[in-house]
Amino acid sequence: MSYLKTLLLHPPSWDGFDGGAGSRYQARREIRSFWYPTWLAQPAALIPGSRLVDAPPHGLGLAEVRRLARDYELAVLHTSTPSFPHDVRVAEALKAENPALRIGFVGAHVAVAPEPALAASPAIEFVARDEFDFTVQEVAAGRPLAEVRGLSYRNGHIRHNPPRPVLEDMDRLPYVVDVYRRDLDIRRYVIGYLLYPYLSLYTGRGCRSRCTFCLWPQTVGGHRYRTRSVEHVLDEIARARRYFPEVREYFFDDDTFTDDLPRAEAIARGLGRLGVTWSCNAKANVPYASLRVLRDNGLRLLLVGYESGSQVILNNIRKGVRLDVARRFTEDARRLGIRIHGTFILGLPGETRETIEATVRFACAIDPDTIQVSIAAPYPGTALYRQAVANGWLDGRRLLDEAGRQESALSYPHLPAPEIQAAVSDFYRRFYFRPRKMSALAWEMLSDWQTLTRRLREGREFLAFLGRG
Ligand code: SF4
Repeated sequence: MSYLKTLLLHPPSWDGFDGGAGSRYQARREIRSFWYPTWLAQPAALIPGSRLVDAPPHGLGLAEVRRLARDYELAVLHTSTPSFPHDVRVAEALKAENPALRIGFVGAHVAVAPEPALAASPAIEFVARDEFDFTVQEVAAGRPLAEVRGLSYRNGHIRHNPPRPVLEDMDRLPYVVDVYRRDLDIRRYVIGYLLYPYLSLYTGRGCRSRCTFCLWPQTVGGHRYRTRSVEHVLDEIARARRYFPEVREYFFDDDTFTDDLPRAEAIARGLGRLGVTWSCNAKANVPYASLRVLRDNGLRLLLVGYESGSQVILNNIRKGVRLDVARRFTEDARRLGIRIHGTFILGLPGETRETIEATVRFACAIDPDTIQVSIAAPYPGTALYRQAVANGWLDGRRLLDEAGRQESALSYPHLPAPEIQAAVSDFYRRFYFRPRKMSALAWEMLSDWQTLTRRLREGREFLAFLGRG
């Protein structure tokens, strides 16, 4: 079968914008960091002769990307709500450079609202909705657009084809590490709390929880955890080890890798046999016995969404976790020597000055090794967004400022947006500028030269961020 010459593109927007496939908060972060463009790597692996270009981490601007347009017949751009206007401009520039180029958009933003996305510019010929891997592959194979399920497209009028059935046999997904090796410079991917260089991929899609703010399960992934087989995952990791012997840590970016504990333990045992260091996303309710199995088989770190130190807020957002359970889980992890990167959100429905204070105190009390504080982001397609519209909390506000950094799109009569924003840097200061925390970080920096140089760079960026707050 012959394929159109296909470019899978995460377009340039703001300097340092980490908004590619996989990013949960599509923004430029306090410290420069990039997740892998795994969602785009999957169709790239399905289309022979394609190329994946991840512009932000590779420092490619519009001029460099525009030059690529002449070399391709089809370009598929991954977009997000905040970057959509930028991405449309990139699409128009590509089209101006090569009028014969066919252009499609993918990502949660266009999956939720394909019609306005297509109406935004005649340069966009189609939108591949929901899980787009095989949809994009069929377009690249030259199938008539009218026959491709999961597609919305322009043909005089805007047309919407029937949805593509949800992918059940996840082992049909190709390995992404072949595309990483072919198209990416893995040294460009840095996440502050992961060992460098790291590599991330998915072993499944979907999350059983129904947190009202969370983008991926409510748009593309769904609420069933659909998984690749243990053997499929382990074989890909073994291959990655051959390709990238320099990788020091593997991160499983599944929404909640611990949603299926027997499977997580089976994968862990296989990883233990391979001798790799790894980490994953987890909910703050994994029992001690499972944590011990994971730790004994190479687990180094858990990324845990605590979100809030107020039970009322956790209930409001349907987190499905009790604070006492989260506390006990954190103590268990500490006893086992598992590091935790805890993530928190300010500005969720019900937030007050008192709940912010409770969250800062909770974070200091459970004391994860590192934290990230985000501002509640009402992405279209989420229950939070619908709630915000219904209650008039949006008021025309943006998700990001002119430099691509998060700002509060939500504003409440009792807690205005500027106050939510100011609370973020205050939270960081109170958490990190404690003698115990600072000495722990200093010890870590002295452990090896690479960590020292990296932390010094991150420290400079972090202080610059606090200086703005
Ligand atoms: S548990 Fe995590 S991934 Fe799952 S819905 Fe909640 S925030 Fe999203």
